[in-house]
Amino acid sequence: MLDIIRDRKEVPLSRADIAKITQMSATSITRITDYLIHSGLVEQVDTVGKGTVGRNGIGLQVIRDSIVTAGISIDSDYIDVCLLDFWDEVMGQRKETLAKRPYTPEEILKIARKLFDGLCSDLGFVPEMVSAVGISCIGNIDYKTGTIFFAPQFQWNQVELGKLAKMYFTQQVYVENDMKSSIVGLSRRDQDLKHENITYLSIGMGVGAAVMYDGVIMRGSNNAAGEVGHIIVEAEGRACDCGQRGCVQTYLTKNSLIEICGEKGHPVEDVQEIYEAYRKGSPWAAAFVDKTVDHLAVLMRNLVYMYDTRYLLVGGAIISDFPEMFTLAKGKLKDLMHSNLYSNLRLKCVMEKYNSMIGAAFVAQENSVEQCGDGNG
Ligand SMILES: [Zn+2]
Repeated sequence: MLDIIRDRKEVPLSRADIAKITQMSATSITRITDYLIHSGLVEQVDTVGKGTVGRNGIGLQVIRDSIVTAGISIDSDYIDVCLLDFWDEVMGQRKETLAKRPYTPEEILKIARKLFDGLCSDLGFVPEMVSAVGISCIGNIDYKTGTIFFAPQFQWNQVELGKLAKMYFTQQVYVENDMKSSIVGLSRRDQDLKHENITYLSIGMGVGAAVMYDGVIMRGSNNAAGEVGHIIVEAEGRACDCGQRGCVQTYLTKNSLIEICGEKGHPVEDVQEIYEAYRKGSPWAAAFVDKTVDHLAVLMRNLVYMYDTRYLLVGGAIISDFPEMFTLAKGKLKDLMHSNLYSNLRLKCVMEKYNSMIGAAFVAQENSVEQCGDGNG
């Protein structure tokens, strides 16, 4: 019922409307709405003169600032922080770019706290009023304890980030892997995706994916479901740091693209140079992009067969800077799949940014809602 009221945001919903949608009895509706009002999440508002449908003029509406959460995204080269209200709007955000060196977890948390304080002050919001903090971080993570087993970009091993964060934030802190945060961020902001089977594939500094069935994250035994960078796409292919050959991440990350170009006699400093050469019609860039897209299309195909997904969302820094890759891969995909799977598949190019930051704020929000429920019996 809370979700039904929340979906309408600024339009109050009458008890009669709720009865129509839920098919529940008036007694049950009164009992549950009283509980939501008592929890401080929902309020009764006078709808007379607002042109809404409440016959008795009383509607129910979610209290916008009843739950405000912070979302922090820790990436290899920057930290983003936002505040999210209970109408699911981002109230504001701040960013800091990181230097190219390993940071200690304490240094990262200190920067995050500074950004959080700055943002609260920008918005005139008291930091203590923030209900919970969600942190999205690269690496393999135990989301229950907030322990990061391994984050190669920072050379972190067995870092108890959730525990350490308690020294910097008075709020409850929830730590989640960045791909899983991103899929939460993407699905919660799109009504079509909220309760669907989705796979999100990201290519950028790394190759990763996350999977949801009916809006619930699929985790696996090690919370590593979707870590698809080491799927082998060429049996005798390029050497990977995992000790094997032909892993897809040796073809589809920014560094791999730069490396391969150099090996082929077209040295580039940055991937942008490849995109520009392709757009100018350079033959070597066209051939190189075509080969890269073959690997992307095969990976997308494998994900569909692996997870039987309805929506395949493809994003990450390479795709958002160079969406031509997505369009080309989409064109190749049809010939790689059974027609029934292909015709039921919905492909989406993700151009939105900040998905992991917003997703982290949603993770904190969902946990806060649960806490409200627990606290009130
Ligand atoms: Zn590998």
